[in-house]
Amino acid sequence: MSAPYLDLVMSLRQGFPQPVSDRVHDAYFVFSFLRALDQLDGMKSVTPLLGKAETLDYDAAKRSQVADGPLPLEQVTQTLVEHLSGMFIWGHPRAQINVIPPPTIASIIGGLLPSIYNPNLVSEESSRQVAVAEVEVSSMTADLVGYNPSQSAGLFTFGGTGTLLYGVKLGLEKACPGTAQHGARERAVIFCSERAHYACLTVANWLGIGRENVIQIPCSPENEMRTCLLESMARDVLKDGGKIAAIVATMGTTDHFGLDDLKSIHEIRDRLVDEFHLDYHPHIHADAVIGWAWSVFNDYNFDANPLGFRHRTVRALAGTRRRIRQLPLADSVGIDFHKTGFTPYVSSLFLVKNSIDLELITRKQSDTPYLFHDGHYHPGRYTLETSRSGSAPMSALANLRLFGKDGLRALLGHVVAMAEVLREQLEGHASTTVVNRGNFGPVTLFRVYPDGVDTFGVTEREQKDASYRDQLRIHNEYNRRIYQVVQADALHGDGVVISLTDCYRETDYGEPMVALKSYLLSPFAEEQYINAVLESLWKARATIAAESVKTN
Ligand SMILES: *Cc1c(COP(=O)(O)O)cnc(C)c1O
Repeated sequence: MSAPYLDLVMSLRQGFPQPVSDRVHDAYFVFSFLRALDQLDGMKSVTPLLGKAETLDYDAAKRSQVADGPLPLEQVTQTLVEHLSGMFIWGHPRAQINVIPPPTIASIIGGLLPSIYNPNLVSEESSRQVAVAEVEVSSMTADLVGYNPSQSAGLFTFGGTGTLLYGVKLGLEKACPGTAQHGARERAVIFCSERAHYACLTVANWLGIGRENVIQIPCSPENEMRTCLLESMARDVLKDGGKIAAIVATMGTTDHFGLDDLKSIHEIRDRLVDEFHLDYHPHIHADAVIGWAWSVFNDYNFDANPLGFRHRTVRALAGTRRRIRQLPLADSVGIDFHKTGFTPYVSSLFLVKNSIDLELITRKQSDTPYLFHDGHYHPGRYTLETSRSGSAPMSALANLRLFGKDGLRALLGHVVAMAEVLREQLEGHASTTVVNRGNFGPVTLFRVYPDGVDTFGVTEREQKDASYRDQLRIHNEYNRRIYQVVQADALHGDGVVISLTDCYRETDYGEPMVALKSYLLSPFAEEQYINAVLESLWKARATIAAESVKTN
C-alpha cells in the first residue's frame, strides 16, 4: 500500500496534460474543454446574454472557503461554466455596449496554446519562439502605424494603462534624469486633453508625479485638445521652471472617438524646445489604444475604393486617417489588441519609436543575477513585470495573420458603416440628437428628448446657457430613464443593449451632460439591429410619456 498522498498525486496527474503523448488522455483533455464549450453554447439565445441576467451574490462569495478534498475535473468545469452565466455576448448583434470586442477563434487559440505550455516572456530562454512572436508583432505593428521597425521596439504589458505608464516613465526620465535612482525631486507635469482616459491620473499617481500635476487641456466640440491652449499652458509651466514629463495625445477617446492633432502637438513641442532652450525633448506619447487599428487605412486607396465602402463610410474612414497618419510623430504609442484588434484580454503593446529610449529604464546586469544568462532578447531587463504571459503577443499575431490589412479594413469599415446608419437615423428624427457629430468612429453618443423640445437649438443651449441648468438636469434624468427602459427591453430579447455615459462632457457652467452610447464592434452588426435600437427608443419614449401622464 502506498502513502495516501501518493494516491492523490496519481489521480491528480490525470488533471494535467500528459508530458508524453498519450492519445487517450489527449482526447480526455480536448473533450473536457468541448463539454464546457457545449454547456456554454446551450446558454445562447436571441438575447445578447449567456443564460439569463443573474443577481450577483457577493455575500455567498465572501463566505467561500477551500474544501479539504479535491473535486473531479468535470465538476470544476461545471462551476466555471456557471460563472459565465449572465455574461454579455459582445459579438451579438444586439450588443452595442462598449469598446469590448468579441475575440476571433484564431486569437483564442493564440491565447490558449501558451496557457498550456506556459512560456514566460521575461527572457528568450523561457519563451523561445514565443519571444520571437513578440518581436514579430512589434515590428508588424510598428510598420502598420508608420514607425521604422528597425529603429523601434515593442513589448506587451498589462493593459492600455500599462502602455501609458511606460510612455510617461520614459518621458519623466528624459525630463528629470536620475529620477529612477534618486526619486522625484522637481515638479514635472503631464499634459493631456480633458477627454483623455483617467489612466493619465493613475499613471501620475503611481509614478509619483502626482495627480495635481496632470494638466487637462480643454477640448473643441470635436473632442480634440485645443492645441493653442496646450501651447500657452505649457509655456506657463516652463516659465515657472517646471518640467514636462509627457504630452499625451489621445488618438481615439474612449467615449467619443476624438482624435488629437498630433502634428500641431509635435510642432508646439519643438517650438518650446527652441524657445526655452530645453536640454530634453518633452516626450510625446500617443494613447492610440483605440485608434491604432485605423492605421490599416494609411495606404488604402479611397478614390478607387476597392473594398466598395459606401460614400458616407469612405468619408468617415478618410476623416480618421487624416489624424491616424500622424502617429509616427509620437515618441511612443499605446496599442490595445483587446479593444479594436478583436483579441481576448489582455493584449496591450507598448511601442517606442527609438529603441534606444529603453535604455532609460534598463536595469543593471548586476540587479538581475539569476536571469538572462544567454541569448540576445531579454525584455525582462527593462519591463516592469518579471513574468509575462505569451498569450498577449500570440493572440495579437493570430489576428494580424488572420485579417491581413484588408480583413481589418473590412471589419472596421463595416462597424463604422453601421454607426453611420444609426447616425443618419438619429439625425433624421426631431426628438434625438447626436452629440459627437464631429467624430467618425464606431461609437455614437446621443441624447433623446421628450416632445416639445426643439432639438435643433437645445444642445447649444444646454452647453452654454447657465439659466438652462434645471432643464439640462431634467433632460439628463430623462436620458437615464430612457436607458433603463431600453435596457430592460433588451434583456428580454426585444431590443439592443446600449450603454449610458454619465458625463460625455461638462457644460460651460460645470454640469455633467449625460448621453446614451452605442458602441458597435460586432462583425454580426446589421441594419435591422440598428432599426431595433430606434424602435426601442420610441417605445421607451412612449412608456415614459405614459408614466408621466399617470403621475400628473
Ligand atoms: C481603455 C483605455 C485606456 C485603458 O486601457 P486598458 O487596456 O483598459 O487598461 C487608456 N486610454 C484610452 C483612450 C482607453 O480607451
